Amino acid sequence: MENILLLVHTEADGSLAKSALESLQAAQALAAGLGGVGFSVGIVGEKIQDAANQIAGCGAAKFLGVEGADFAQPRYASDAAAAETLCKAAQATVVIAPATSRWNRVVAGVAARLNGRVETHVTGLRAENCAVSVTRWYYRQRMEAVLSRAQRPWLLLVDPGSQPAWEGATGTATVEAVAVTLPESSKRTTVTGLRAPSADAQTIRPDADLLFVTGAGWTKKQADGQTHVPEAEQIISNFLKLTRASLGSSKSLVDLGGEGQAVISFLTHLNQIGQTGSTPRHPKGLSTCCHGEEPHAVGWRFIKERRAISLDANCGWARGKADVLYVADAFAVMAKVNELVGAK
Ligand SMILES: Cc1cc2nc3c(=O)[nH]c(=O)nc-3n(C[C@H](O)[C@H](O)[C@H](O)COP(=O)(O)OP(=O)(O)OC[C@H]3O[C@@H](n4cnc5c(N)ncnc54)[C@H](O)[C@@H]3O)c2cc1C
Repeated sequence: MENILLLVHTEADGSLAKSALESLQAAQALAAGLGGVGFSVGIVGEKIQDAANQIAGCGAAKFLGVEGADFAQPRYASDAAAAETLCKAAQATVVIAPATSRWNRVVAGVAARLNGRVETHVTGLRAENCAVSVTRWYYRQRMEAVLSRAQRPWLLLVDPGSQPAWEGATGTATVEAVAVTLPESSKRTTVTGLRAPSADAQTIRPDADLLFVTGAGWTKKQADGQTHVPEAEQIISNFLKLTRASLGSSKSLVDLGGEGQAVISFLTHLNQIGQTGSTPRHPKGLSTCCHGEEPHAVGWRFIKERRAISLDANCGWARGKADVLYVADAFAVMAKVNELVGAK
């Protein structure tokens, strides 16, 4: 019989992030699919009671906690020790964790310490005939595989955005404190602070409801025979500020920088969507000034509702790649959208 452990860490404010709630939903569904085997929750953080209370109504058999100032910041030695200790305390055979940057760094190492196995980029969990299997994508999201393993413990890093987030009652959870012996090596690393771009400079927002994609058309000569790159920058950045959408781009647009052409200053290759870019998961996507060619549109595989604004009625989006295509000037449309959203 499987022993399922959900492994989560708190955020800076002591709460659990959406990705943790998504993994919780997956753990709960898996436990139910295995005939109601029950599951435990292991929480790591500086203070964990609020996080446990946040999911008190999830039906976990027990809550285990590793708490203290040593676990406030992500650090390999302390995080790996905490995760290893929690897996042992729960006698877990299947460990489900959100693929956050913090867990991505340590979970493979923890699997090695426990002589277990790890799966990254898990997008689905199944229980069939009391056997656990997981799904993940290969070859740039072109092939989906179903995997199972005999080795235990089996540690599963679940891709954020791939599961619905758990919603349920908060309450007062009873947390069993688990003591961790920190290795000497954990004293070698001290987190002195965080350096991150300001909120506006950070344009990639995986949790946003909307993916806003910019194409090379924003830098092309327009009806008046001139380019309007500063105006394009203004329209795009206003839209992002107003909506907090995540910014994606076509390859052509992010490549222009290398060719010394006028470009949208806040775009980098990290924004690129497509075959040689990323394949994000947002409920909705809006493409602007982009042709919608296959190598780009393949990156929209997981975007549920797709719309595009292009001057070209014969572009790729018109050929079954978008749900709605507005054949229109994106400069005019987006300026009007900003005006309407701003007025709200
Ligand atoms: C091996 C390989 C891998 C690739 N990988 C990727 C990838 O990962 N991601 C990716 O994006 N591409 C990728 N590409 C490139 C891809 O094939 C296209 O060349 C690229 O996506 C085109 O970018 P674009 O649509 O922005 O530019 P363009 O093809 O130049 O299209 C610009 C569009 O903007 C429209 N437009 C212009 N002005 C306006 C306006 N005012 N209002 C509305 N519309 C306007 C034009 O009508 C046109 O349709 C790859 C190619 C290869 C060969």
